[in-house]
Amino acid sequence: MTRIRTSAAVVAGKAAGVATRVLRRGGGTALPGLVAERVDPRLVANLGRTLGRGRVMVTGTNGKTTTSRIIAAAFDAAGVPYVHNREGSNLMRGMASTLLSRANLAGAIPGAKNAAGLFEADEATMPAAVAALQPRVIAFTNLFRDQLDRYGEVDTVMTLWQRALAAASRDATLVLNADDPSVAELAIGWSGPVHWFGIDDAAFASEAAGASDARWCPCGGDYRYDRRYFAHVGWWRCASCDRTRPDPATSAHAIELDLDHASFEVDGLGRVETPLTGLYNVSNALAAVAACRAFGLPSEAIRGGLRAVRPAFGRQEVVNLEGRSLRLFLAKNPAGANQVLLLLRELSRRRGPLKVALLLNDRFADGQDVSWIWDVDHELLTGAVEAWWAGGDRAEDLAVRLKYAGWPAPLLVDHAPGALLDAILRGTAPGEDVFVIPTYTVMLDLRQELFERHAVAGAME
Ligand SMILES: [Zn+2]
Repeated sequence: MTRIRTSAAVVAGKAAGVATRVLRRGGGTALPGLVAERVDPRLVANLGRTLGRGRVMVTGTNGKTTTSRIIAAAFDAAGVPYVHNREGSNLMRGMASTLLSRANLAGAIPGAKNAAGLFEADEATMPAAVAALQPRVIAFTNLFRDQLDRYGEVDTVMTLWQRALAAASRDATLVLNADDPSVAELAIGWSGPVHWFGIDDAAFASEAAGASDARWCPCGGDYRYDRRYFAHVGWWRCASCDRTRPDPATSAHAIELDLDHASFEVDGLGRVETPLTGLYNVSNALAAVAACRAFGLPSEAIRGGLRAVRPAFGRQEVVNLEGRSLRLFLAKNPAGANQVLLLLRELSRRRGPLKVALLLNDRFADGQDVSWIWDVDHELLTGAVEAWWAGGDRAEDLAVRLKYAGWPAPLLVDHAPGALLDAILRGTAPGEDVFVIPTYTVMLDLRQELFERHAVAGAME
């Protein structure tokens, strides 16, 4: 009976996918899953659990896409077949869409027994996703405050994650960020195995670590830091009890960051290279290495995955605009933006003052309350910006924010992406770099404009 229902759901979902494509309603990645889940609410469990090599799940406020892509690249390097919700959304219906796209009309995924599952899950989707997929490895990258009007406080997310773990198999390995005391809290009360990862490089300790989303220790005590990397991430200990940063099994040291490349030492892997940069991406890379190790992938495949991964949409993507390199760094929340600013500050120390474009929208997917820009430490770049442009629907808010940060007056404040690109062309010479920091929907608008100018290059998907 179960099989018949799943089969009916697959047929309904596939039909919805065809209808969506015929009607040209965009990518149509969510609708087939939505329809199929209506027919069979246990579709994700019924299809997902047939993936015989086990499922890996990745969540966290920032970095889950990048972490998942590195794990996928390592699966490729190891020759492990896998199903990954790469194009689908990271909600249940996105996972359902991915699974049914691989299923036949009998309601089965061919070759499932020998395949793995790789699922990037939205923070709030974790209880349902873990219960349905029963992952073998569950990786948590970090916990920051996201846009204000999305989930509310980090405590809400923490409660959801604890609920998710209550539904997890005790055989599952938790992959936890030792540097994030909130993520580390997940180990309390977990009786199964934990694989910790963390950054071991004093050179990247920062005084200006940015706004902290730290919670309190469950004992009520404050966290103290022997070393802070950014926000509440670093070598922490509780001032009131004996909780302290765990010693990670997977750690990075001797880190070297370049404009579009990073390398670092990992015990057991030697020096590894990746085309991702920024300390935050080193942390994402460690999450991926730890997850791959917990899964049992060989070291050579992990090293290969780190080398082969390509930045995700809008993250560290380079677009050539009439000889200028527009370097896109998507920033969706204060912590993400601060990490990009820390990287740019690092680069400005070596390259001199930078040219920067900041773009802010307040549409639904961006978070409609833009007050979060006041939690971004633009002051990190004060004195390090020689020219900048403000774009997006809320360009004026950026201009006000940056005036307070002591940046020079912007060369342009304009909502239209076309006007922004024209101003960048006027204000730069061929061969120059422009660092573009957009929110999500304004990045889509900018890409559309670049596409119309035949400028889009790089890892678009
Ligand atoms: Zn404590």
